Amino acid sequence: MDCLFCKISKKEISSDIVCENDNFLAFKDINPKADFHTLIIPKKHIESIKELQSEDKELIGEMFLFIKEIARDKNLKGYKIAINVGKEGGQFVEHLHAHLLAGEIKEVV
Ligand code: AMP
Repeated sequence: MDCLFCKISKKEISSDIVCENDNFLAFKDINPKADFHTLIIPKKHIESIKELQSEDKELIGEMFLFIKEIARDKNLKGYKIAINVGKEGGQFVEHLHAHLLAGEIKEVV
């Protein structure tokens, strides 16, 4: 499958990894729009929130706990979590991802 974020999760394309476990990878956004801008992806290929199935319920819950752990480890006092859905929603990479943003935000993601 020709998916950029699948290739990043399989380390076929390098990234600046922030945190990883069996199900998720967090890596720095290549074009940061905030002082702190990390992307969080499930390793499972899910195109977007639109493609979520009820079987993904647990995975999505875990994803938010994973994000919370990163924010805590990085001592982020406050932050934004943004998920773009579909091209019309500003999603350019068709693999579900959350933007974790903190500090000064320069641009809307
Ligand atoms: P979205 O617009 O929600 O699909 O966000 C995709 C994000 O992926 C953008 O903020 C890009 O800067 C980021 N991005 C694209 N390619 C890479 C890459 N190779 N490594 C890290 N971030 C990337």
